[in-house]
Amino acid sequence: MTPMMQQYHGVKEQAGDALLFYRMGDFYELFFDDAIVAAGVLDITLTKRGQHNGDGIPMCGVPFHAYESYLARLIKAGHKVAICEQTETPEEAKKRGAKSVVNREIVRIITPGTIVEDSLLESRANNFLASVATLRDGEETAIAWCDLSTGELYVRGVSLATIVNELAVIAPREILVGEQWLGAPWVSEIAVVSPCTPTTCAPSQFDSAAGQRRLLEAFQVATLEGFGDFSRAECGALGALLGHIELTQAGAYPALMRPKRVGNADTMVIDASTRYSLELIEAQSGGRKGSLLWAIDRTITGAGARRLTQMISAPLVCADAIAERQDGISWFVDNKVLCERLREELSGAPDIARAISRLSLGRGGPRDLVNVRQAMELGQAIATLLSAGDGLVQMPIALVSTLEAIENKSGGGFSKLKSLLERALVDEPGLLARDGGFVAKDYDAGLDKVRALRDDSRQIIAKLEGDYRDKTQVKALKIKHNNVLGYFVETPPAHGDKLMQGACAQLFVHRQTLASAVRFTTGELADLDMKISRARGEALARELEIFENLCEETLSMHEALATLGGGLAEIDCLAGLATLAMDENFVRPKIDQSHAFDIKAGRHPVVERVLADSGQSKFVPNDCVLDREDDALIWLVTGPNMAGKSTFLRQNALIAILAQAGSFVPASSAHIGVIDRIFSRVGASDDLARGRSTFMVEMVETATILNQATPKSLVVLDEIGRGTSTYDGMSIAWASIEHLHDACRCRGLFATHYHELTELSDRLARLENVSVSVREWKGDVIFVHEVAAGAADRSYGVAVAKLAGLPASVVDRAQGLLEVLESRSTGANGGSSGGLNDLPLFSAQDPVPAPTAPTNHALDRLEQIDPDALTAREALDLIYQLKAEMKD
Ligand code: ATP
Repeated sequence: MTPMMQQYHGVKEQAGDALLFYRMGDFYELFFDDAIVAAGVLDITLTKRGQHNGDGIPMCGVPFHAYESYLARLIKAGHKVAICEQTETPEEAKKRGAKSVVNREIVRIITPGTIVEDSLLESRANNFLASVATLRDGEETAIAWCDLSTGELYVRGVSLATIVNELAVIAPREILVGEQWLGAPWVSEIAVVSPCTPTTCAPSQFDSAAGQRRLLEAFQVATLEGFGDFSRAECGALGALLGHIELTQAGAYPALMRPKRVGNADTMVIDASTRYSLELIEAQSGGRKGSLLWAIDRTITGAGARRLTQMISAPLVCADAIAERQDGISWFVDNKVLCERLREELSGAPDIARAISRLSLGRGGPRDLVNVRQAMELGQAIATLLSAGDGLVQMPIALVSTLEAIENKSGGGFSKLKSLLERALVDEPGLLARDGGFVAKDYDAGLDKVRALRDDSRQIIAKLEGDYRDKTQVKALKIKHNNVLGYFVETPPAHGDKLMQGACAQLFVHRQTLASAVRFTTGELADLDMKISRARGEALARELEIFENLCEETLSMHEALATLGGGLAEIDCLAGLATLAMDENFVRPKIDQSHAFDIKAGRHPVVERVLADSGQSKFVPNDCVLDREDDALIWLVTGPNMAGKSTFLRQNALIAILAQAGSFVPASSAHIGVIDRIFSRVGASDDLARGRSTFMVEMVETATILNQATPKSLVVLDEIGRGTSTYDGMSIAWASIEHLHDACRCRGLFATHYHELTELSDRLARLENVSVSVREWKGDVIFVHEVAAGAADRSYGVAVAKLAGLPASVVDRAQGLLEVLESRSTGANGGSSGGLNDLPLFSAQDPVPAPTAPTNHALDRLEQIDPDALTAREALDLIYQLKAEMKD
């Protein structure tokens, strides 16, 4: 094995399951299986190099200067990448011996949960890394999660039984789990519910004592008391998270915020399948489009969009906390002009959280410092703007007071930092500190001096050019610069000889002859070149020193800056929700501790927008009242296919979620008693990934609902029991309604095609029938999407099938069959049902006879014909006749 391959294998061992980007000159090379995987994902050429065990080594490479786009694709595909850099120059290696291999080290491991580069991140979504710590076989469990790119860090004690739902709220990109859980059902379920990369760690990584030590070290504190009282599992989860960050960032720590404990009782419980079925953040087809977030997001900044996502993912249960957000939105609605101005200001807002995170990891540049400065200026401008509005004192999100608090807490440090960055930096610096040129004039006397030296020398050079032209009488003579020759004199080839003859030969020293030019240097020029490059080096070194100082000053205020960033995000979010409310006629819902659920003229925000975008019919608003005398009601919703039952069910669940997230809601009025849990089962779907059939999934989810719903819950069930035989399904639906009504006593919406169930309202006091009506016109159905009291008379399924374009013969046949079946179930003499006991479900019924086939004249004719008695001509005529008859 060559020494280089030996080195490669050593480094690869450290990289573990990450693909190793091994730096060789201008390329990152990948070898062996890594190369095969990467070439497949990136669609780049796989080549071979050298020999290993008699075979060529598979290899592929990506250019160093453009590696980020390749990296992004690998990370998106769920891979981890270890970056291995050369840590010395080839010259330095040679000093150790002619055959020495250049030293290389892993400088960073990039995993889906640890990226911080803007080019790899979605600006409007958080990028969470989560860790799950378990003690005593899962008896005590905690999740910790952080977004390395914004510094947010949270922790929550959970139960292993609900871990999948808990993680669905966070939707992390990567999860750290102990290797003892590898293959456990909840681990595979997590990957299905919320697609993410699992990273297994040794159980020791979750050790709580080690976790505590890591926390003390990371936050540079002597005790954790100030952070709150973390349980052992919480310390373990936080510790594993910090350990993974340390490992992947090769020792660098981002500017993390202090870990914030998220209380279990603070938010509405929405399980993973409800999230999925209600399409809160993502549509079922994947992606944002078609989700609730897509329909309501009017934020301007990435941070504002991330905040809105968090609000929608975890609606609140405390009426006061909800009212605080509502007050913020109301304030913007009442101060519409200011709201618009503020949103204009926000349109240029930098992502301060992400800038700080990059700076703290040593991956930031001057532009990130300018971003911080701009965010501070913007904060002040917005605070001034807001103070012009009415009733600011009551405004709970008053940035003014946030800024004042920051200023006071830091002993005036906030203003000092702002003016420091204003004085120190030019307005539009480059991306990288190593390119220099970002420190403003007059900030540092030493820097100004070396820059003056450099600039003076440049002026002298400009003057020299004129002198040399005069001396040589070559008008086309120019002084140019390149990295190889430094400064040089260049003339067109025709004049080259002139500079090599007579007095000129004393002055100009020939350096290079090209087809298009001849190049010379002079003693004076070489001197100046040296001065300039020394000055340039000195200036850059000084600038880098200043950059380090500015980073240090900035990071010393990182918590205050994070508060500022959080304040701006909150304002963007609430101003966005206010804009939504004004544009789309949303109203402020009344939220209290009652059992109310009274929505007047409610609308489905997503369907309404889709209809508006496509220029189709307008959305028809509907009321929904699920309480009577402060007691919960269940509405049994019947109605034809396509009438809008599912839409109605979902719209009410979404209104509840929006309301408790603090938003206004699409209705003319709304009164909701705080909902502790929301359950929604809409439509059946196979879950082949988890090895369950449609019906099994449906029953598992129904079981969860029936077991967990409380009198404060809202349950939305759409057509349960459809995945099995009619009587099985109807019985299950029947019993479930009874359980929800008698045992759970929750508010509920239950849509069904089993019309027999509507008779339950006679027996269950808090069950009411409503139906989504349709009109019939000339034998066709017209959907009016209106929900009204009472049960639907039938399903119109055959009529809808006709609309969908089923062949006419199938529609006719189905209509015939329907009539037979209906006459059987309503009694032989066609009378209507005489009560529950007369329903087919509860009375002994004769089996439904196979319906007789409708008369077919063509077949009758054929029956009567003797084919042998026909001539060929007669047979052909007969075929034409039969065809004509069939058409009739
Ligand atoms: P099925 O029983 O076949 O599942 P459904 O009664 O649940 O049907 P939905 O799927 O809710 O019907 O609605 C069918 C379509 O009707 C929707 O895609 C939507 O375009 C439209 N629709 C539903 N409700 C309304 C409404 N209130 N206003 C306008 N259009 C609506």
